[in-house]
Amino acid sequence: MQASISLIGSTGSIGTQTLDVARKLGLRVTALSAHSSVKLLEQQCREFKPKYACIGEEKYSEFKLAVNDLDIEILCGDEGVNYIAGEDESQTIVNAVLGMKGLIPTITAAKKGKRIAFANKETLVAGGTLVTDAVKEGNAVLLPVDSEHSAIFQCIQGNSAIKKILLTGSGGPFLNKDREFLKTVTPEMAVRHPRWNMGKKISVDSASLMNKGLELIEAVHLFGVAPERVEVVIHPQSIVHSLVEFEDNAIIAQLGMPDMRVCIQYAITYPERMPSPAESLDLFGKELNFHKPDEETFPLLALARRAITKGGNVPAAMNGANEIAVALFLENKIGFLRLFELVIEATEHARFIERPTVEDIIASDTSAREYVLSHI
Ligand code: MG
Repeated sequence: MQASISLIGSTGSIGTQTLDVARKLGLRVTALSAHSSVKLLEQQCREFKPKYACIGEEKYSEFKLAVNDLDIEILCGDEGVNYIAGEDESQTIVNAVLGMKGLIPTITAAKKGKRIAFANKETLVAGGTLVTDAVKEGNAVLLPVDSEHSAIFQCIQGNSAIKKILLTGSGGPFLNKDREFLKTVTPEMAVRHPRWNMGKKISVDSASLMNKGLELIEAVHLFGVAPERVEVVIHPQSIVHSLVEFEDNAIIAQLGMPDMRVCIQYAITYPERMPSPAESLDLFGKELNFHKPDEETFPLLALARRAITKGGNVPAAMNGANEIAVALFLENKIGFLRLFELVIEATEHARFIERPTVEDIIASDTSAREYVLSHI
C-alpha cells in the first residue's frame, strides 16, 4: 500500500472524494493542486499540510497570501502541476484534472514510473497511444478511477482472453427522451444527474452520452482492445458498473453502490482492498435492467466510435470541440442540439494526422476549439 499520494485537481468532485479516502486511510498527501478555488485549496492545505501546493496563475498572489503562515512550497500554473507530476516525494499521483490539459503532467508522471490513479479521461482520449507508450517506457502503472473502467479492470484480473467489454452507462438525465425534448434542454436540467454526484462538465457529457463515447475510447486504450469489442449497455440503476465477456462466453460483472470513493481507493490501494467510506449494496428488492443506447437521438456516442476507429488525431479534435462546446452550453450560448452539431462538424473538419506528436495533439485540440468558437 502506498503511504503517500500527490493529487492534481484537488478541489473538483474526484479531488475532494480522493481526500475523503486519504483521510479515512490516513495517507500522507505530499502535493495538492487546483485551478482557481483558493478558499477550498487553502482549507485542504491546512488539513493535509502538503509539501507542495499549486494554483492557477491568476490566483497565485491571493493564494500565497492566504497560506502565508504555512510551511508550503507554492507553485503556479501548468508548470507547477507538471513539477508535482515529476517530483520524487510521492510514487503515487491521483490525476483528477479536468480536460486534456492533464496530458503533459500524465506523460511526465508516466516517464517517472509512477503509479497513476487516473480520473482524467479527456487526456487518454486526446493523447491515446502517446500516453500508453509513455506508461510502457517509464514502467509506470495506469490504474483507472473512472467507475466503469475500474469495474472492467477488476473483472479482467490479468486475463487476456477478452471477447467483449460491456461498458455500462445510466443513460443520463434524458434517457428515453426524443429530439423534440432535447431542443428544450437547459444547463440546469443537464447537470442534474439521477445517480452519480459529479462535476458540471461530466454531467453535461453524461446527458449527451458523449461521456460514454469518451469512456469507450478510454477502454480501448486502457485495455488494448479493438473499438468493435466494446459495447455500450444502458443500465439505469447504476449498480452493475461494467462487465467483461471472455472467450468461453463467461461474463464477469462488478457491482456496488454508485460511489466514486470505492474506485478511487482501489486505484490507490491495489492489489489490496481496505474498508471504504462507501455504503454497502443491499441486493434484495433491486431490479437490474439493460438496454441498447439510442444512438440516433444521441449521435455523439457513434461519433466517438468513428473517431477511435479512424484514430490518429481525430479523438483529440473531437475532445477539444466537445470541451469548448460544453463550456458554451453551460454559459447558455448554444443549445443542446447545436452542441451535437458543432462537435460533429469540428471533428469531421480536422486535418487527419495518422501518428500525431504531442504538439500535433495540442494543435488539433486548439483548431477544433477555434472551429467551434467561430461557428456558434
Ligand atoms: Mg464513468
